[in-house]
Amino acid sequence: MSLNPKRTIAELKQLRALTADENGAQRVAWTDTWLSARDWFATKVKELPVEEHFDAAGNSWVTLKGASEKSLLIGGHLDSVPNGGWLDGALDELAGLEVLRRIATEFQGKPPVTVRLVDWADEEGARFGRSLLGSSAFAGTHSIEADRGRTDRDGVKMEDALRRCGVEIENFPDAEKEQKNAAAYLELHIEQGPVLERMGLPLGVVLGTKGVERHNITFHGQEAHSGSTPMNARRDALAAAAKLALEIRTIAKKHGDAVCTMGSVKTFPGIVTAVVGRCEVTLDQRDLNASVLAQMHREAKEASERFAAEEGCTVNWSRLWNIEPVPFHPHLLNLCERAVRETSGSSHRMPSGPLHDAAEVARAGIPTVMMFVQSLKGISHNKIEDTKEEHLEMSVVALDRLASKTMEWIQQQN
Ligand SMILES: [Zn+2]
Repeated sequence: MSLNPKRTIAELKQLRALTADENGAQRVAWTDTWLSARDWFATKVKELPVEEHFDAAGNSWVTLKGASEKSLLIGGHLDSVPNGGWLDGALDELAGLEVLRRIATEFQGKPPVTVRLVDWADEEGARFGRSLLGSSAFAGTHSIEADRGRTDRDGVKMEDALRRCGVEIENFPDAEKEQKNAAAYLELHIEQGPVLERMGLPLGVVLGTKGVERHNITFHGQEAHSGSTPMNARRDALAAAAKLALEIRTIAKKHGDAVCTMGSVKTFPGIVTAVVGRCEVTLDQRDLNASVLAQMHREAKEASERFAAEEGCTVNWSRLWNIEPVPFHPHLLNLCERAVRETSGSSHRMPSGPLHDAAEVARAGIPTVMMFVQSLKGISHNKIEDTKEEHLEMSVVALDRLASKTMEWIQQQN
């Protein structure tokens, strides 16, 4: 049984038929539909000479034991956002399954190194607002205290929803045991952006995941009557915020792949007859380089203070969340580039704006790399998410090549 990328596409369609409705994929973690997707996946794995178990965080591990205990990990996630697409997470997992089948056949069930396929639990964080849940437990970066109190929209507590699926949040740290003997981690994913399509390339090499600085910024001015307050006597908090909304584009443009987004603006009192006395905005800044990220943060802060002063306002910043950039492994980047070139003729190195489980694995110190396959129109987390089937087939072939090269690299280290 050699590699059969067409089977991966057929299985993606089976999974879609099983877990999507007219609005898209409904495999939200810790729901019955997600569990049925995992049951379906287990039937696929049964044909293989592997050991299967769930770890303490609900991650599913399928292990093909090799001559060496040193392990090549390949990962994905079967969970989706509500009304999601057919490829995000599922392609990674089903392509990984196809690669595992090829390896099991080629080496008659005993490859030179151990190969493990992981289905991470709750990558999307769609229900409880905590993404990369299972992989962060694996990496040891998870905080039980921070997550215990989370609830979903219906008031269901996260720890109760997990318990229903046989997972106790108290036991999460035990998932770190799965790090044992891990020598490398590979993840294939749809790009979820427009870069590869614009370049006319099917596949790309992911340099790492961008770091994120996420802040609430509040401008304070003076509420005043819109009729009686002369223009030169106003302290308009929205005017200061609006200047910043435009300035962040200039700040981002100075740094190649950096992005800055003001995603939310609230005005108070927020009525048609009053100058805005208070304006609350959010800022999300991302880059792969930590010093660029720090510089963009400083520049945005200085600009906000300048604009506040110009408008007779004051400004306060409070950090909502941040994460360091996670660069991937230099040698695995080279192997990934070779696999992509051999498959599609050319390659492009690019950072990932979205976070992925691969970032958590890399944070655990395990050599990691990701490969992207082109997304049509750059759209994901939506039922229209799509990739050409010829590109999906190429992505399975390229992941398989990367797996072979990585296994050789692991063997050389012994
Ligand atoms: Zn994903």
